[in-house]
Amino acid sequence: MKFAVILTLVAVVIIAAIVIIGSNQAPKEAEIVRNEVDITGQPLFGEENAPVTVVEFGDFKCPSCKAWGEMIYPKLVEDYVLTGDVKFSYVNVLFHGKESVLAALGAESVYKQNPEVYWDFHKKVFSAQPEVANHDDVWVTTEKLLEIASEYPSVNQEQLKQDIDKQLTLEQVEIDKELYEKHNVSQTPTININGITMEDPFDYEAIKEVIDREIEASKNE
Ligand code: CA
Repeated sequence: MKFAVILTLVAVVIIAAIVIIGSNQAPKEAEIVRNEVDITGQPLFGEENAPVTVVEFGDFKCPSCKAWGEMIYPKLVEDYVLTGDVKFSYVNVLFHGKESVLAALGAESVYKQNPEVYWDFHKKVFSAQPEVANHDDVWVTTEKLLEIASEYPSVNQEQLKQDIDKQLTLEQVEIDKELYEKHNVSQTPTININGITMEDPFDYEAIKEVIDREIEASKNE
């Protein structure tokens, strides 16, 4: 009888140990679904050789993208981009019609003219987005984009106007469209880390977990 009790206890301890060890293990590589984003020709922020690539599929007209840029992006930059672990890229998504296209055409023009000022321009366009309650109001116009870009002497205003009005940067915008369609992006922002799409772009702890794991994995390569 006593022996049976001890045997049962031992079995319970072993099973508990297996469960605990199992739950602490990172998902095996084979279980991770990876679809790496080809960011050739896309704006890049951070060290080119950073082991981890974070891609945001975003839309200048999207309120959640503005919120992501204000809440999550600064943490990501401080914790991982400035340390050289992460490089960040942005792909235009066109879910809000004409204004999404206008903003994307303008952003591609600014990037083409001077990649150095791109990220600052990018941030200012999001800042120009009205509060959520009015986000359906038309606010992206050629004039607005020209006004935002006017503080960068390296960006030629006439060129920017032509690129937007005559859609001269449409080819770049089309490349982005093909990319987000290829990656089945159905909501913005969508965050992709070394090919892994995050379920919740606002769950910074989950983002950290994936990035940390990818940094570790890169050390073992
Ligand atoms: Ca692009």
